[in-house]
Amino acid sequence: MPDVPMPDPGAEPGDARAGEAGIETLEWESLPDGCWRLTSPGFAMNSGLVVGSRRAALIDTGSGPREAAAILRAVRRITDVDLVVVNTHAHGDHFLGNDYFRAHGVGDFYAGNLAISHMEATEAEQRALVLALEPEMGAGAGAHTAIHMPTHALGSSPYELNLGDRFITLQQVGSAHSPGDVTVRAGRVLFAGDVIEQGGPPNFGDSRPVQWLRLLEELASGEAIDTVFVPGHGSPVGRDFVQRQTGEMREAIARCRILAASLPAGREPSDSELSVLPYGAEESRFMYGRLVATSP
Ligand SMILES: [Zn+2]
Repeated sequence: MPDVPMPDPGAEPGDARAGEAGIETLEWESLPDGCWRLTSPGFAMNSGLVVGSRRAALIDTGSGPREAAAILRAVRRITDVDLVVVNTHAHGDHFLGNDYFRAHGVGDFYAGNLAISHMEATEAEQRALVLALEPEMGAGAGAHTAIHMPTHALGSSPYELNLGDRFITLQQVGSAHSPGDVTVRAGRVLFAGDVIEQGGPPNFGDSRPVQWLRLLEELASGEAIDTVFVPGHGSPVGRDFVQRQTGEMREAIARCRILAASLPAGREPSDSELSVLPYGAEESRFMYGRLVATSP
């Protein structure tokens, strides 16, 4: 997890002073086929934007009202059409801006049905995640700090959304990185949420590693060679990156299994034993624990 800057405690969420507190004007990166992405500074979380003639889809809303306000200001530099929101998954840095967007006229919010259940079950955990960055959201006190649940639950079948003269496809693709991960396809661009991570190790805390590997294998082999993958954090990547991440995770799962088989029942591996995994001490321990807990 990247270091989180402390905002100005006197700033009101969403107002100009909040911008001065560190969330300055967010810059869009233009992607193929009329897609955009920007990065909110706190967790370096990517939001996506796809613009149709009648509506635009915003993918992930940030950690709370401060980030959401900066994201909405950025959206309005691109388009004035109505917005729909897609949440790629149930981690607070991706969906706790929902209430700000609800208050600013957004009615349709999409997420995986398993992700919605996870949001409901882990509200305290998600608020705690963003506390340093979004103190009002962390405390559940102040404007736009409700947990606004998605209004449309996606299943595993692809769901076509008509934005006006263009369609995008939403799909709950797993529980891989977290319960009910959703991807959004728009032309050659695939917004992948935290299923793909660039610039840091994958985050295994709520993962199902075997299902995650299967999903990566599908993406690495099934996607077109010119697909642009937008990760939840980090820069857009190509299929070769996804193939490398897949190979690394396959090898890591194999090493975890060898390690688990070598340990007496009930004994946790030491840090040095976990150093055979490529993800650093913390994420390697999460991965080991989640693999043991979620697969036979
Ligand atoms: Zn996540």
